[in-house]
Amino acid sequence: MAISKKLQARMIKLASDRAVFNQAKDYALDYLDGIFEREVYPNDIALQNLKHFDEPMPIDADDPASMLKLLHDYGSPATVATTGGRYFGLVVGGSFAPVLAVKWLADVWDQLAPLYVTSPIMAKLETVSEQWMNDLLGLPKDCAMGLVSGTSMATMVGFAAARYELLRRADWDVNTKGLFGAPPIRVVVGAEAHSSVFKALAILGLGKDRVELVPVDEQGRMRADKVPALDDNTLLILQAGNVNSGSFDPIDEICDMANKAGAWVHVDGAFGLWAAASKNKQYLTMGMEKADSWSVDGHKTLNTPYDCGIVICRDRNAMITAMQASGDYILYSDQRDGMLYSPDMSRRGRAVELWATLKLLGKSGVEELVDGLCDRACQFATDITTEGFNVLNDVVFNQVLVTCGSPEETAATLRNLQRSGECWCGSGKWHEMPVIRVSVCSWATTEEDISRTVRAFVKARRDSCKG
Ligand SMILES: *Cc1c(COP(=O)(O)O)cnc(C)c1O
Repeated sequence: MAISKKLQARMIKLASDRAVFNQAKDYALDYLDGIFEREVYPNDIALQNLKHFDEPMPIDADDPASMLKLLHDYGSPATVATTGGRYFGLVVGGSFAPVLAVKWLADVWDQLAPLYVTSPIMAKLETVSEQWMNDLLGLPKDCAMGLVSGTSMATMVGFAAARYELLRRADWDVNTKGLFGAPPIRVVVGAEAHSSVFKALAILGLGKDRVELVPVDEQGRMRADKVPALDDNTLLILQAGNVNSGSFDPIDEICDMANKAGAWVHVDGAFGLWAAASKNKQYLTMGMEKADSWSVDGHKTLNTPYDCGIVICRDRNAMITAMQASGDYILYSDQRDGMLYSPDMSRRGRAVELWATLKLLGKSGVEELVDGLCDRACQFATDITTEGFNVLNDVVFNQVLVTCGSPEETAATLRNLQRSGECWCGSGKWHEMPVIRVSVCSWATTEEDISRTVRAFVKARRDSCKG
């Protein structure tokens, strides 16, 4: 056989060999079976075993079965059990088994999602998800939705649309003329805005240091009485869900001020925007439909798998024009062409997991999910206070900030907790004080998981006194 056809012949044979898929399926299902009971963070042995991946780039082909076995034997134990019930670091959602199954199928499709002509099914799922999202979150029906990797990117797209539109009003086409010599845009942002907001401002040439910072209250909420006079040349950035305290800016009041002045309002609601889907929690996002653009993650509160950032924009034209690319070979259609709503060209069909999660849960399921996370967070705050820890924030959503008697004791307790394998929490700073951050973000967290976590806190603090 000609040497150039050796690889092809081998891969054709493997394409009809279900053994590899079955092996992967068995490993994956075994992994899922153990997820609720295993150590939340990999132990030392698992970490040391990562050395099995150290090898020079192989010259010859490996056989698929041993490749998969290597990945499962040494890869699976070195994962962090973020999809179980006792991972509380960052703001990390779990994932639903049926959605993972849907994702498997779609992975095999391996669709290219930028254009209708490259994947009609992905275009359809994006169109449907756009309508569902607007409906679920109570936004105007014809808002445009783009699918990106996460909220960082979603925020950047929202700002790009704002930048385009604010400058267009000043008769300046930023796409063709750039920012040099452009009329200045004002940027107004809360002092507690997420770091990704400042990153997006930097990338877009709007500058991190030239913003007008609005002071916040003790929960990290923007103070409406401190918002400077706004105008139609201003990008105002609000937050639905502070990454530490979970607090929400007074969106309704500030949107009214912004709308009167003609300012563009963007809401960073990476995890908090989903409050709008719950009757109990809607008061937190009240008035958000008066904003111009929103960024939110599927992979946090909604518990989709990763790579699910969502940007929504009231002004479809501003978003599409800001994301415009042209080329003779790009075949735009009269259907949905996803690349008009995202900075990417080639990308996977991200809509599958969003669509599947919304379909699996329905409106009532999303509401129950959101309420459940908030209830567990409240349970944790109550129980941990009973055990003599301090809770520093008003627990309005899913975030709880905990300290012990002294900063040293807090740090030692956190170290012990992280090593315990019982749960995993991250650190943070709140009002200059080191805190243990607890984010209840997985559907899988039960009341018993919370009780077990509280016991782990108590033991970790006790051990810190001994050490
Ligand atoms: C997580 C988070 C982000 C960033 O989202 P990614 O999906 O990680 O890019 C932005 N803002 C807030 C408030 C967040 O919690």
